Amino acid sequence: MRYALCAMRPTPMRFQKIKGTRDILPEEIGRWQAAEAVIHQVMARFGFSEIRPPIFEETELFARSIGQLTDIVSKEMYSFVDRGEKNLTLRPELTAGVVRAFVENNLGKKQPVNKLYYLGSAFRQENPQAGRQRQFQQFGAEILGSPEPAADVEAISLSMAVYRAFQLERFVVKLNSVGDVVCREPYKQKLREYLRPRFDRLCKTCQQRFEKNPLRILDCKEAGCRVETAEAPKLFDELCENCVRHFARVQQLLEAGGMKYELDFRLVRGLDYYTRTAYEITSDQLGAQDALCGGGRYDLLVEELGGDATPAVGFAAGMERLMMVLEKIGWQPTTPKAPIIFLAPLGEAAVLWAVQAAAQLRQNGMTVEMDLLNRGLKAQLREANRQQARFAVIVGDNELQTQHAAVRDLTSSQQTEVAFVDLISYFQQNSF
Ligand code: AMP
Repeated sequence: MRYALCAMRPTPMRFQKIKGTRDILPEEIGRWQAAEAVIHQVMARFGFSEIRPPIFEETELFARSIGQLTDIVSKEMYSFVDRGEKNLTLRPELTAGVVRAFVENNLGKKQPVNKLYYLGSAFRQENPQAGRQRQFQQFGAEILGSPEPAADVEAISLSMAVYRAFQLERFVVKLNSVGDVVCREPYKQKLREYLRPRFDRLCKTCQQRFEKNPLRILDCKEAGCRVETAEAPKLFDELCENCVRHFARVQQLLEAGGMKYELDFRLVRGLDYYTRTAYEITSDQLGAQDALCGGGRYDLLVEELGGDATPAVGFAAGMERLMMVLEKIGWQPTTPKAPIIFLAPLGEAAVLWAVQAAAQLRQNGMTVEMDLLNRGLKAQLREANRQQARFAVIVGDNELQTQHAAVRDLTSSQQTEVAFVDLISYFQQNSF
């Protein structure tokens, strides 16, 4: 029977990760965890609570909130039909899920303003390049329930505070207003009129955008399109009275808070749900994909997703791009590593002792490593040094007999005999 099973084993096959995804390896994970810890701390300082929506949702949720005509919905979503014939999609961003959760759980009834943040994976089938992946991590925040410019400024200030917490100072905040239902349509019309005589000189994609999504022509990266739009009417000059007032107040509050920004008429953002304030934070250390973070106000989305009318503002930021910039500026995590106690048992009886000792030391909050290869003393000590352990606890037959371990301090190379019963208190006194 055993032989028959062996004969049926399939030929081994090596797999590779999916294009546009990456493995975060053990050697990098310390930096990621430390960076995530900084983000959690800053969010807490601003009074935001974490929310963790699911990784997949109904496709319709994203189509409705992000917008059918956007690049994300029209060509980048990972959508599939499950066995129950439901159309599902891996989230291409997290705001839609957060708003769905906000409505479904009646969070708006629990307090007047909800300040929520998230950190998790998003999926888009884009062309992978530096700073652009198909699975990437986003962190972001949403303020639900306030129409006030102070809320816009709280979101902008929070995103800036995250970067500052990493001592990252070299970034630019770009600001625009994309208007609201009153002024955006007349502006689109004006823009079309301006661009109509220039239509033939626009790139193919922008020609397609002309009727349905002319705002996106403004942020096209093609040199030809940029020339044609350089003198185009600007949305912030065409805002309705309420939008003008809102935009002016946001700028006044940013200035009062000492937050520098630049007006950028080309900033329209890829997502349909923005109203009024739109902003982006860019870094000149990132290359072509220079946006660290983007956000803005989306006053209509909650209602569109079946909730009570709830004004909202938020941002989403890329974790990989943050990590790339942190690498460039030489950021070093400050979290001290817990000292490692390396148990070096010699022989079977000693391994039995070591398993028990490891459990007790770990229960007392200590970081314990143990040889798992039944190696000799020399090899075990080499391993302890490789792991930069603080102590090696050597136990062989003699030590078992005397009930004392040989504890070697690997920084000073001094060795002490410590009674088994005293080990916990010894390490408590000496290593913490
Ligand atoms: P968006 O949701 O498109 O506004 O993106 C918000 C932020 O997420 C961007 O500023 C980037 O930092 C990051 N981001 C968006 N798409 C990707 C991607 N494909 N790969 C890596 N990061 C991304």
